[in-house]
Parts: sequence; structure tokens; C-alpha cells
Amino acid sequence: MTLPSRDTRVTYPDGDVVSEATVLHVTDSGDGRTVVLLDRTAFHPVDTAWPDQPSDRGSMSDGIQRWPVPEAVTGGIHEGELFLGADLPVRTGTEGWVFVVGHVVEGSGPRVGTPVRIEADRALRTDLSLGHTACHLASLALDLALRDSWTKEPPRDGLGSPAFDALAIQRSRIEPRGSVDTYRIGKSLRRKGFDPAGLDDLDAVAARVDEALARWLSQASAVRVEREAEELSARRAWTCRLDDTDIRIPCGGTHADSLTRFSSVHVDLERRDVEGGLELVMHTRAVARHDRARMAGSVS
Ligand SMILES: [Zn+2]
Repeated sequence: MTLPSRDTRVTYPDGDVVSEATVLHVTDSGDGRTVVLLDRTAFHPVDTAWPDQPSDRGSMSDGIQRWPVPEAVTGGIHEGELFLGADLPVRTGTEGWVFVVGHVVEGSGPRVGTPVRIEADRALRTDLSLGHTACHLASLALDLALRDSWTKEPPRDGLGSPAFDALAIQRSRIEPRGSVDTYRIGKSLRRKGFDPAGLDDLDAVAARVDEALARWLSQASAVRVEREAEELSARRAWTCRLDDTDIRIPCGGTHADSLTRFSSVHVDLERRDVEGGLELVMHTRAVARHDRARMAGSVS
């Protein structure tokens, strides 16, 4: 069966949750499920190399039959072979590869050539988008809260703070209306000039983070995902204006369209001693402003 020769075109960066598409390829995934490749999709897949935002879930329909789609993975095609999810050995965007969204459907799925409608669960998407936007805000607020804990000149973030988040992040997991970010403070971060004493009073750090978050939410800026092209592997960036500065952060996920969607964002910080240093875990929690509007799907 022929494999697609170009990337899946994706519409979720614009906030879409529904798309009409044509089935380009189906492959049995061996567990009663089938992986379906489409020419375009509104369905956000989990990224293999940096799985921060979980996949959408939803359904696919050909107008007669409807298949649950519990998840979507990132796939790559190279030299006539399709690698899906954990089997994908390269980062999305690697030269010489075609990148696709692999919709995992229950059952045998539709046939190649069938026009289908794919729909992501709106409530889950809205909550993940709120969580992802809150995660970016919290990372910038953490950089700001720790800006006096550096003894050297490290790289800076978009607001001019030393880039603690970019330099120390180990793992980021977006959750519905929140995120959990894990940072490692070891020898290499200390060598770059970070003084771990800045984390002695975690409550004070968290209070400074929350203060920045409250200020930014009150600025009520729009949030957009800018992109060079519709292809899955095209570069995309989260953009938002904070403290009169336009911020751009490379990002493949989905986002709330405005900071007015939040009533508050708070963080809790936790430190753990690990071999060779310590770990800082930031739990970010967002409260949505318009719960009823959210239920109607207007925040997608
Ligand atoms: Zn992101």
C-alpha cells in the first residue's frame, strides 16, 4: 500500500477540533486497532521526542460508521517504511523524512480513499490548551522569579530573564488545566552560573511566580500559534505579549486563544534531592474564567 509522500497538514494549531479529510493509508496495529493516515487533520498527536502535550481523543466517521479514536501518535516515513510512535527514531522535522499523524482507531477503520470526518473531544482539548498556555506562562514566571540566582551571564528568555527553564528542564507534562515541569539542578547548571541557594526558600519563589502570573493575566493579551506552513513538521511558535514585550516560544501544541480565558494560574514548587544534585518540580494549576462558555466549546 502506498504511503503518503508529504506531511499530514494539521489544523489544530489554529484551534480546530473538527476536520474533513481523505484516508491515505491504513495499517493494522495488531491489537484490534488500526492506524489511519489522513491528508489533513484537526487531531493533535503526541510527539515522540518531546511528549509534553498528550494526544487528543475523539472519533472518526465516514457518514455510516463511527470509530472511536483513543489516541494519535506521530509517525515518520523514510525509504518506504512507516515508523509509528515509540518506533520513530528521529525528531519531528528531521530532513529526508515525511511526518504524519497516526490516528489509532478501534476496529478495522475506514478504507483508503474514503472521505472521513475526524473530531477531537472539545472539553479535553480546551482543558489541555489551557494547561499548555499556563505551562508557558509559568516557565517564564519561574525564570523571572529566579533571575537573581545567577552568578554568570547565562542565555536569556524572551523577557530578558536568565533562561532557567530552557537550561534545566528535564520533563514537561501538560495536563487538563495544568502542567508538571521537572527541572534538574546539577553540576552543569551550576557551572552555567546558577546558585541553588536561590531555591532555599521555595515559598518565596512560588509567591514571586504567582505574582508575575497574576500580572500577566491582567494584561489580557491574545495568544496565537504562528507557523510557517500547514505541514505537521513546519516550525510553530507560541506568541503572546507580556509586560509590553512580544514573546515567541517554539511549540508544537495547542493553546487557549487569550489570557482572558483564565481566572487564575498558580504554582506549587517541590524540591527533591537526587544523585548529583536536586530536582525542582513545578505543578501549575489553571482556573478557567468561563466554565459555561467552555462547555459550549467556544474556547477551543
Ligand atoms: Zn509548548
